[in-house]
Amino acid sequence: MKIDILTLFPESFMPLKESIISRATKTQKLEINIINIRDFSKDKHKKCDDYTFGGGPGMLMMVQPIYDAMTSIEGYKQAHKIYLSPKGKTFSQSRAKELSKIDHIILLCGHYEGVDQRAIDLLINEEISIGDYVLTGGELPAMVVVDAVSRLVPTVLGGEESTEIESFENGLLEYPQYTKPREFMGLEVPEVLISGDHKKVDEWRKNEAEKITKQRRPDLLNKDN
Ligand code: SAM
Repeated sequence: MKIDILTLFPESFMPLKESIISRATKTQKLEINIINIRDFSKDKHKKCDDYTFGGGPGMLMMVQPIYDAMTSIEGYKQAHKIYLSPKGKTFSQSRAKELSKIDHIILLCGHYEGVDQRAIDLLINEEISIGDYVLTGGELPAMVVVDAVSRLVPTVLGGEESTEIESFENGLLEYPQYTKPREFMGLEVPEVLISGDHKKVDEWRKNEAEKITKQRRPDLLNKDN
């Protein structure tokens, strides 16, 4: 899978270099490229933002550098092009799963007051929000999408983490988990988990997952996953 990220702040993507995702890029299961939109500015000071027509506070990212940065990417026409935006559809595990099956994704990160609408109209297939709050830039949202999507690409995690039994799989939150020691500060690991009876363990986990989902996220129980 190939993911290209268009940004004015390439240095924000350092955290991607410190994760399992980075190891996947080294083994070529995943290719992530960070493209600096500023490199495509035609302004002599490399300016990429300006005041909004009609007035109002703040600056807006100009369409020309975004357009040229996007169209410089090989295969951009066929790629799925996403703009990270609070106005987009809220991101979810099921959307992450769908995106993990796409060969080439391009993410556009906004900044300031966002981007000129023509960049969206000309280039973008989908707008994604990571939640109902406003961040200063699309870099953190892009990293959220990259992390959630790429760990679902087969072989990226290399068996280090399983994605099949996690929260949101089967529309449930995950059951509680324990590791050594068996007792800590008077709190014991539930007996069933050390019984060696796999059928009972599975039943207990299913019940716990249903219980916690009912308590915390009853909306998930009535939702198509
Ligand atoms: N003026 C915009 C509005 O009211 O919708 C907000 C612009 S925000 C300060 C700057 C950039 O951060 C946006 O262009 C977008 O790329 C990103 N951003 C902020 N909040 C986001 C969210 N919840 N999800 C995805 N991207 C977000």
